[in-house]
Amino acid sequence: MEALLLGWFEEHGRDLPWRRTTDPYAVLVSELMLQQTQVPRVIPRYVAWIQRWPTAEALAAAPRAAVIREWQGLGYNRRAVNLHRASEIVAAEGWPEDLTKLPGVGAYTAAAVRRFAFGEPVLPVDTNVGRVLERTGGRFGPEAAAALMDLGATVCLARVPRCRECPLASDCPSRGRRYEPLRKQSRFEGSFRQRRAETLRLVAAGRSSGLDAEAVASLAQDGLVEMRAGLVRLPQ
Ligand code: SF4
Repeated sequence: MEALLLGWFEEHGRDLPWRRTTDPYAVLVSELMLQQTQVPRVIPRYVAWIQRWPTAEALAAAPRAAVIREWQGLGYNRRAVNLHRASEIVAAEGWPEDLTKLPGVGAYTAAAVRRFAFGEPVLPVDTNVGRVLERTGGRFGPEAAAALMDLGATVCLARVPRCRECPLASDCPSRGRRYEPLRKQSRFEGSFRQRRAETLRLVAAGRSSGLDAEAVASLAQDGLVEMRAGLVRLPQ
């Protein structure tokens, strides 16, 4: 099965900018961005980010406010603070043995950096990879990581998989099945998440008072804003 998958990947794999590097910092940037943002939205932002801050040292030296501003529009802004803190740790102490010691890095992200940057024999299992593994019952090794991701993202889709285009169809016990609609993501419109995003946008644009107090408190807790003498600003 793995050989079929790798053959398919050679022809159909996605050409993503973070796949052209094995620099752990660049891989970490891409993985944090991809945690909650779709690939097409991440691509231009990742390229711009790496141009602006090509190393962990460069990012660590940047003001927190600039990092938060650059992240605007990607959503889940706490990731910007985590990435900045992680780069500070890496710049000061190097890469930790256990990558989950870095802020914002969970088991999956750690496995992805270990695989794609350090070339370690681990298979990072995200939602797409997990789905393909479950449906095929196949055993795939670390070499298949990127191919599994692409198959899950483009062919073995969550609800209606494209089994006719699938290189694994002949051996797949789930071939031809349909799945229940996915649980809908909670609405962004009118949500507290939206209020936080809007408040952060206003602070980044220079507004320091007359803001949504609840959102400000929550943003301050995440290190995204700070309060000085009753005024709100991005962390300095
Ligand atoms: S045959 Fe269908 S269910 Fe099986 S891995 Fe391929 S796309 Fe997924």
